[in-house]
Formats: sequence, structure tokens, C-alpha cells
Amino acid sequence: MHNLQMVDLKRQYSKIKTEIDAAIQNVVESTAYINGPDVNHFATELATYLGVKHVIPCANGTDALQIALMALGLQPGDEVITASYTYIATVEVVALLRLKPVFVDVDADTFTMNIDSVRKAITPKTKAIIPVHLYGQSANMEALLALAKEHNIPVIEDNAQAIGSSYTFSDGTVKKTGSMGVIGCTSFFPSKNLGGYGDGGAIFTNDSALAETLKMIANHGQKTRYYHEMVGCNSRLDTIQAAILRIKLRHLDEYCDARRAAADFYDAAFKNSPNIVTPFRAPYSTHVFHQYTLQLKNVNRDEVQKKLAEKNIPSMIYYPVPCHKQNMLKEYGVADTYLPVTDMLQDCVISLPMHTELTNEELSYIANSLLEITG
Ligand SMILES: *Cc1c(COP(=O)(O)O)cnc(C)c1O
Repeated sequence: MHNLQMVDLKRQYSKIKTEIDAAIQNVVESTAYINGPDVNHFATELATYLGVKHVIPCANGTDALQIALMALGLQPGDEVITASYTYIATVEVVALLRLKPVFVDVDADTFTMNIDSVRKAITPKTKAIIPVHLYGQSANMEALLALAKEHNIPVIEDNAQAIGSSYTFSDGTVKKTGSMGVIGCTSFFPSKNLGGYGDGGAIFTNDSALAETLKMIANHGQKTRYYHEMVGCNSRLDTIQAAILRIKLRHLDEYCDARRAAADFYDAAFKNSPNIVTPFRAPYSTHVFHQYTLQLKNVNRDEVQKKLAEKNIPSMIYYPVPCHKQNMLKEYGVADTYLPVTDMLQDCVISLPMHTELTNEELSYIANSLLEITG
């Protein structure tokens, strides 16, 4: 087996090449490289897909989170509750805006925010909560939204890893992740479930006034050109990326299915292994497997990774250092925050190749190799 990758974008591209090449060529010919018609079309199509009123495209997922926090008018020192078990971008924007990150633990099964920890972390200074739908699984939004509502705190969903996932509430209502909080944010980084061929991101909301503010902030604080109402930034989705994303959006459900099928294969293979814990699937949402992440028990993870590499099987640790222990946040003095589940998981997780093009032959090679290595 050769050339296995964590994410195989080349094979995916080859299947939609004709459509993609034509779309790119069309933008190049049009010269509407910035704010061309594809950008608005994509925003409208994505809004329909997600069932939200407004989609504001922007330059990347990190900007989406930053713009969301800016639009809520948070002031330096305000507290923002989030998980330490996430990609750094979720937390970096909090620090960048001089807000105070307050870290809560995650549940060992879903890898997402533990609701009791959130309840304990709420203070009168809490001005936002950012749940992260990690690895493609939704946080427990029904409980979180109820708690947030009780305290009148806005929820911003970091949906960068879960676009396409659906959440079913106990009354039967079904919503897409990213559409449940006051604001949802996503990233179109190439390896994400809906990835462009460069950077990109978007912000979602059902609140029309908030949508106006988000749009203004992403566009130098202006509604009318050259009349700047507030300090904003320059954050746009390129027309070429929008044209590509319009095509890939039509395949998103099929891509999520392909990821779930690969996960089913792995799950079945590892079912009886005493040393491997397969990913939990919360009953309230569909898992879209941005990552397929196992917990290894009673084995040396470094050794496992090394032996997999010897068999040309890539694997990754997402993430080797939890956010609260990053030097970036030293001044906040949060390194000693008691997050036992986060610390435990960070030491035992490993992610296997996961993408839309994995064949059964590749999956069985990967699974059998890992079973052989872990005993
Ligand atoms: C990818 C990612 C981001 C940031 O997205 P970029 O487009 O790379 O800026 C934010 N949060 C999470 C959880 C992510 O996985």
C-alpha cells in the first residue's frame, strides 16, 4: 500500500475536475475576482442548505470567529467560555480581542463541552460561550442552549469541523450544526468537510440586525463605500473559492456519507479490540467524521505511531498540547486549570486517515495494521 494520506484531495478533485475547471476558468475570464456573482450565489445556496437566514462569507474560519465576537460588542476583560480541547483558532481570537478565555472540560465520549463544567464556569462577566463541534460531532446543544438562555449569554458555534451534521432536539426539531446558536462559524480550509482550494470561511445567523453588523465588520466597518461606521477588518471569500465551493456544496451530503461509511468500516474492524476505543456517536446528532479519532489504552502511542509510519500509514495527534497549556496564553495563568478529561484524552487519542475517497482495500490495510500493532 503506497501513498496513503490523512486527506486525499487529489482523488476527490479528479472526480469533479470538469466542473471545477470550468468554474475556475469562468471566474478568470470574468475578472470579477473580488465579490463576483459566485460569492452571493454561494452565500444564498449555503443559507438554504443550513436553513439559516444569513450567510456572510469571509476569508477564513479564524476571521469568522473573530468577527462574531466583535459583532457581539464584547469588551476587554469580558469572559468567554470555551473548550481547551480544540484547534487554537477558537481561543486565539478571544485573546486577540483582549477578552478572557475561561476553559471548561469535555465529555470523554463526545470530545465536546461538558455542560456541568459550563454551568460552574458562568459568572456575571460571562459574555459568550463557544462550543466546538469537534471532529464532526455536535456538542450537546439542547442542554447548552437552555443553560445559556437561563443566563442570557449568546452562543457562538465553532462549526469548522462539523458542517453537514444535523442535530435532533427532543421535540423532534432537526437543525444543522452552526444554525442553532446566535452565530455559527465555519472554515473552508481545503481539508475541512466542505473545503475550498485555498482559505475561506463563513458566518451564519438568523438575526438580521446582527447580520448587518457582521457584514459591516467584515468590510472595513462600512455599509456605504468610504463611509466607515466602526472599526472592522478586511475579510472576504475570493470569487474563485466561492465558485469551487458552490460545486462542492452540492456534494457535501455525499461526502459526509462517504466519511461515515469509512468510519463504519473502522468501527467494525476495531469492535473487539481491548486496546482501542472507537468514536462514540451521540444519539442527538449525525457524526460527519471530520476526523476519525480513537483512544488507545494500555499501549505506547508514540510506538504505535512509529510502527504505523513504517507501514506507510499516516496518523495524527489532534492536538498534542491543549489550548490552556499553550505558551500563547501564559499571561492568563490558565495552564493549571483542572481539566482532567481534556488532559487524559490528549494523551491517548490518535486520528487515522479519513476522507471521502478511502477504498475498502485501504481501510482494511490500515485497520489490520493497527490491530496487529496494538495487539
Ligand atoms: C479549522 C478550524 C478553525 C479555523 O479555520 P481557518 O479557516 O483555518 O482559519 C477554527 N476552529 C476549528 C475547530 C477548526 O478546526
